[in-house]
Formats: sequence, C-alpha cells, structure tokens
Amino acid sequence: MYDPNNIFAKILRGEIPCDKVHEDDHALAFHDINPQAPVHVLVIPKGDYVSMADFSDRATPEEIAGFFRAVGKVARELGLEEGGYRILANHGANAHQEVPHFHVHVFGGTQLGRMISLPKG
Ligand code: 5GP
Repeated sequence: MYDPNNIFAKILRGEIPCDKVHEDDHALAFHDINPQAPVHVLVIPKGDYVSMADFSDRATPEEIAGFFRAVGKVARELGLEEGGYRILANHGANAHQEVPHFHVHVFGGTQLGRMISLPKG
C-alpha cells in the first residue's frame, strides 16, 4: 500500500524542497541529503510506486521507459559516463529500503569499489 505522506511524495508535491538536477514527465532527480559518494543522486518516478517490485508490476511501458531513460540522462548530464557510475535500488527489509517510494540511487565521482559490502559476522 502506497503511503502518500512519505518524504519523496512530499518532495514531488513541492511540500519539501530538494536540490533538483532533472525533471521531466516521468521522473524527478535530486541530490541525496546524506551523500555516500561525491555524486549521489536519487531518481524517482512521478507515479505512486512503493518499490522496484511495485513499479515493475504496475507501471505502464511508457512510465518504465521514461523513467529509465531519465536515469541514463541524469548520469550523462552529471558527467558520469566517462569515469563510470553505479545505479542501485533497494527493495524491502533485507536491502534496508527507508523511503517507500521507488527510487534509483546514482553514485559516481570516485572509484566505487566492487559491488556491495555485506555486514560482518
Ligand atoms: P533507501 O535506503 O530507501 O534506498 O534510500 C533513501 C535515501 O533517501 C537515503 O540515501 C537518504 O539519505 C535519502 N533521503 C531521505 N530523506 C531525504 C530527504 O528529505 N531529502 C533528500 N534529498 N534525500 C533524502
């Protein structure tokens, strides 16, 4: 169930400010408030989708294409293509998804290491 009071819904409605880097019919992109890399941008679809599972299940082909084109465009416009970048989407508890509005993280601007690091133990 989508919560219309989640923080990204409020950003989409303009109730909370964001440091915007891109907006089009299908997506909004803005800098993460707690960056984990020199460049750390979030790209979110404009529709009410909780997670990757929800988006991939319910979004229209136009929404899916428009959203992922926007992710690529954002990375290109941020100058990340040449040096390289990483995209990541957390779904659910194991992935520590905090905000229940589907989003893709775009990381870049430095050497990012290989893949993910798991907790020790
Ligand atoms: P998740 O763990 O859900 O994949 O990531 C949520 C991300 O949203 C985190 O990286 C967090 O720093 C970011 N975030 C949470 N609240 C805000 C906010 O109000 N503004 C911005 N720009 N980023 C936020």
